[in-house]
Parts: sequence; C-alpha cells; structure tokens
Amino acid sequence: MTAASDNIIGRFAPSPSGALHFGSLLAALASFLDIRSRGGQWLLRMEDLDPAREPPGAADQILFTLEDLALTWDGPVLYQSSRLEAYSTALATLSTRDLIYQCDCSRQRVRALGGVYDNLCRARLTPPAGSSATRFKVSDVLYTLEDRIQGHFSQSLVQECGDFVLRRRDGLFAYQLAVVVDDHYQGVTDILRGHDLLDSTPRQMALQQALACPQPTYAHIPVATNQQGQKLSKQHFARPLQRNSASDYMYEALAFLRQRPPAELRKAPPTEQLAWAIPNWDIQRVPKLATIPVNSSFS
Ligand code: GLU
Repeated sequence: MTAASDNIIGRFAPSPSGALHFGSLLAALASFLDIRSRGGQWLLRMEDLDPAREPPGAADQILFTLEDLALTWDGPVLYQSSRLEAYSTALATLSTRDLIYQCDCSRQRVRALGGVYDNLCRARLTPPAGSSATRFKVSDVLYTLEDRIQGHFSQSLVQECGDFVLRRRDGLFAYQLAVVVDDHYQGVTDILRGHDLLDSTPRQMALQQALACPQPTYAHIPVATNQQGQKLSKQHFARPLQRNSASDYMYEALAFLRQRPPAELRKAPPTEQLAWAIPNWDIQRVPKLATIPVNSSFS
C-alpha cells in the first residue's frame, strides 16, 4: 500500500440475514475493486443488529464465501452486535443537542400517512409512558449529493421521510444510526453499495452533520433484479452463491459491472480474475441505472 493511499478506506457491510447471493456479491466486488485499485484498505462489517432475522451460521457462511471469492478484507471483522454502547453514546449526544424525541405512534399510523411521518410526537410535552421509539428531528433543508455513479441526487427529508427512527420500540438500534456511527468509527472515506440505499443517504448525511462526522464519498451501483424486476434478496428467494462456482460468479459480476473481463478469464481462479480486475477497474463504466435484470441462474 502506498503512503498516499493510506487514507482511502472502504467497506462491505452485509446483514447476515442469509447467505450471500449474486446481488450482494456485486456490492462486495465493486467496493473491493474501487478501494483496492487505489491501494486503500477494505474493511468488513457484519450488520448483525436484528438477531430474529439472522439464521445461525449465516455470518460465518458469508465470510467463507468471501474467502472463496478471494475478496480478502483488512483487519478484524467488526460486528455491530458488539457496538451497542457506541450507539447509546451517539443517542446521548443527539439528546444533548435536542435532536431526538420519543414516539409511540404505531407503524400502521405511519403507513396510513404514506410512510412520511408527520412528526406528531415532536410536539408532545411529556414523553410516552409505555414503550416508544426514538426519532431524529429532521430539518427543512434539501440534502444534495454528487454520487460517483448516479450523479446528482437530492432529497428533502421533511417532505419525503419526516422524523425517522434511530432506535426501535423493541429497543433495537436502527440501521441508519449504526451505519453512520460505524462508518465514522472505522474511518470509512468511500462508500460504494447498491442503488436501493441511495435514498437512505440523505438521512445518513443528516446524522453525520448532527454528530459532527465527516461525510464520505458515495457511489451506488445498479441493483440486480430477477426477471420480474424484484431486487435479488432473501425475501425473493435469490439463490445463495454455491461454493464451487466462484469463477463463474466473479466473471458474471465483472460483466454486470461492465468491466469487460477478457473471455479467457471466465474459468480462471478468482485470484487471477481479481489480479486483472483491480488495475482495470473503471467506475465510469458502471451503468448509471437503478436496476439491471440478471438471468435466472443467479436469481
Ligand atoms: N447492511 C446493509 C445491507 O446488507 C448495507 C449497508 C450499507 O452498505 O450501507 O443491505
């Protein structure tokens, strides 16, 4: 690693809700190439904050699959389940800044509002007596972002989201809070992930500002869908990656990202494929699209 690149840090942050599938491989591979091509550090973070959705062994299975694909990470894996104190501390900081409040509105109520919370509980004089969620007070600004792949993106959190949840009523910390606290903790400078998370980015920018964390750069790759247009995910029964097909997956993932891998690399071991892909990575070739369908052998 060159001295100049020591400060480029990226990460892959899977939720261990099941095995890796082709869609998650894309995010891992693109982030890996984007960081390694600049000699940076690539970290792995297990977003294991919701035990009820995490089948036993899923986190380890993800690590084995990444190893098969030669997507090797730097340093120890960070497990979010070990970071609960840090999330509590962040909430305490936001509380001293008067940026959070307790809310006992039901999910049904928020759904009936079209998913945009009307901030009803913000005006309460006394906090709810029973169990409640913690919400972040959004401010009326237009968040804008220059995504390295998708270009200009803007969102008004007041109009499109409302005050959002940082800690759920059942006590679990929300992804939006944990991701910001941990990207900062791990010194992440460059985030690359799936397009489905583009519209979470303004919420994360708002939290970064509130917690005085520097803003990383963002890049959102198209999400792979099945032929019905559904994102490959556990809910849609995306096929788990099989352990003996690493070269095929890697080749197809490079092709999906429009990196033009040479045909003779199709059957090469992943280490060889990556030895070609790292110096040839060109983020400009990644299509500026939200989704791309993939054929049924991956979905
Ligand atoms: N854990 C999230 C997921 O698996 C990704 C978080 C991120 O990259 O910001 O969808």
